[in-house]
Amino acid sequence: MRRVVVVGGGPAGMAAAKAAASCGVEVVLIDAAPKLGGQYHRQDARESGDRFKLPDGVEHLAESVVWAIEPILEGHRVHVRTGPADGPDRTGRAIETRALVLATGAYDWTPPFPGWDLPGVYTAGAAQAMAKGQGVAVGERVIVAGTGPFLLPVATSLIDAGSRVSAILEANDPVAGFAARPGGALAGWTKAGELAQYGAALARHDVPLRRRCAVIAALGEDRVEAVLAARLDEDWNPVPHTMRRFEVDAVAVGFGFTPQLESAVAARCEIEGGFVAVNAAQGTSVPGVFAAGELTGIGGADLAAAEGAVAGAAAAKRLGAKVRAPIGAMRRARVGRRFAAALAEAYPVRPGWRGWLRDGTIVCRCEEVAYGEIRHAVEDLDVGGARSLKLATRAGLGLCQGRICGRNVAELASLPDAADAFARRPVAVPVRLGELAEDVPVDEAP
Ligand SMILES: Cc1cc2nc3c(=O)[nH]c(=O)nc-3n(C[C@H](O)[C@H](O)[C@H](O)COP(=O)(O)OP(=O)(O)OC[C@H]3O[C@@H](n4cnc5c(N)ncnc54)[C@H](O)[C@@H]3O)c2cc1C
Repeated sequence: MRRVVVVGGGPAGMAAAKAAASCGVEVVLIDAAPKLGGQYHRQDARESGDRFKLPDGVEHLAESVVWAIEPILEGHRVHVRTGPADGPDRTGRAIETRALVLATGAYDWTPPFPGWDLPGVYTAGAAQAMAKGQGVAVGERVIVAGTGPFLLPVATSLIDAGSRVSAILEANDPVAGFAARPGGALAGWTKAGELAQYGAALARHDVPLRRRCAVIAALGEDRVEAVLAARLDEDWNPVPHTMRRFEVDAVAVGFGFTPQLESAVAARCEIEGGFVAVNAAQGTSVPGVFAAGELTGIGGADLAAAEGAVAGAAAAKRLGAKVRAPIGAMRRARVGRRFAAALAEAYPVRPGWRGWLRDGTIVCRCEEVAYGEIRHAVEDLDVGGARSLKLATRAGLGLCQGRICGRNVAELASLPDAADAFARRPVAVPVRLGELAEDVPVDEAP
C-alpha cells in the first residue's frame, strides 16, 4: 500500500490530494475544519453537506488537527486528534507515511496599535470567517483597515452579513505599486473579474476606499467606540494634522499573512525568508516532505492550488507511482508567482507602524506584556537573543506560544534570531495532558 498524507484542506491541500489520488496512490487528507475549502473557499458551517468532493482513494479526516510530526526511520509519523477542540472526546491516531504534503496555509497578521486589545477590534480574517462561516456581522458600523487586496472581500462579506462599512483604509498606494511592476500585475489578469465584483459591491453601498490611510488607535472604555485614522507618509508615519475620528462599534484590521509554519518546523524543513523553502517540484529540504500554498509564499488561491497539484504528483512519484509531469500546473504556478511578487511590491509593510505604539500598548496579549517592557528589555537589559527576551518579559510564553505576538515581538526587538525562535512550537496546537499520555492506534508506514 502506498499512502500520501496531506495536511490542510484548502486550495493547496485539496489539489494535492486529487493529484496524488489520480496517480493511483492512497491519500489521507487531514484538516482542522469541519468542511473542506480552507480560508478562500470557507463554507457556511450552518449549511448541510460539503461543496467539495474528493475522489475515491482519499480519506478525509475532518475536524482533525495535526499536533505533532515525528521523524521516523523511513518517513514521518503524523499525530492527529479528531473531534471538536473544546470537547472532551477527541480521538487520537498516528499515521506513518513516506510522502507527506504540508499545506497548512497562513493566518492573518496585524501589528499592535493603541487600543487593539479592546473588544470590537478584530483581525480582518476573524471578521471575515465569522461573516462567511456563520453569517455573523462583527458590528453595525465597521471600519476595515490595513493593507492588501484581502480588505475588499472582507468588506463585502461584512456588508453581506449586515454591517455598514464606513470606509476601507488602505495603508499603501497599490495603483502606484502595480504601475511600477506592470508585467507582474498583468500575470494576475484572471483576478480582474473578481476585483470588478468587489468594486461594484462597494460602490453600490457607498463605501469609500482611502489610500495611504490607517487606523492608528482604537478608542473606548469597555469596547471600541471610535478609531483615530491618519494619512500616512511613504514610511507609514502619520502625516501631522490629518487625524480623523470615525465613530464605529467594530474594526477589522489586516496587514497581510504569516505562514502557519509549526508542522513544517516540526518536520525540520528549511525556512527561508519566513516561508518554507521548496524546489520546482514543491519538495522541501527534507526528502519525502513537500509543501504547497501560502506556507511557501503568499500568492492567493489559484497559486496555492497549482502548487498543490505539483506537490501531490511529486509525492505520488516518491512512492513509485507512474506520474505524468504536471506541466500545466507548473506553468500556472510560475505565472502565479509573478503575480505574487507584484502583490508583495504593491502592498509592502513599512516600518512606520512601530511609531503608532505607546509604551503601554499591549504586544503579547496572552501574558499582557506591553511595548515599554520589550523596549526596556532590549535597550536597558541588553538581552542578547529571543530566549532571554522571552524569559525577561514573558512575551510569547502564554497560551498561543507566540503565534499571535511572535512576529511583532521579533520586529519590535530587532533580534536576529527572534523570528525563528518564535516559530518553533514542537506541539503545534494545544493538547490536553491526558491526550498526550494516551496510547493511540498507529497506521504503520506501508
Ligand atoms: C482568515 C483568512 C481568510 C482569507 N480569506 C480570503 C478570501 O476571502 N479571498 C482570498 O482571495 N483569499 C483569502 N485568504 C487568503 C487565502 O488563505 C489563500 O489565498 C488560500 O486560501 C491559500 O490556500 P492554502 O491551501 O495555502 O491555505 P488555506 O486555505 O489557509 O488552508 C489551510 C488549511 O490547513 C488547515 N490546517 C492548518 N494547520 C493545520 C493543522 N495543524 N492540522 C490540520 N489542519 C490544519 C486549516 O484548517 C486550513 O483549512 C484568506 C486567508 C486567511 C488567513
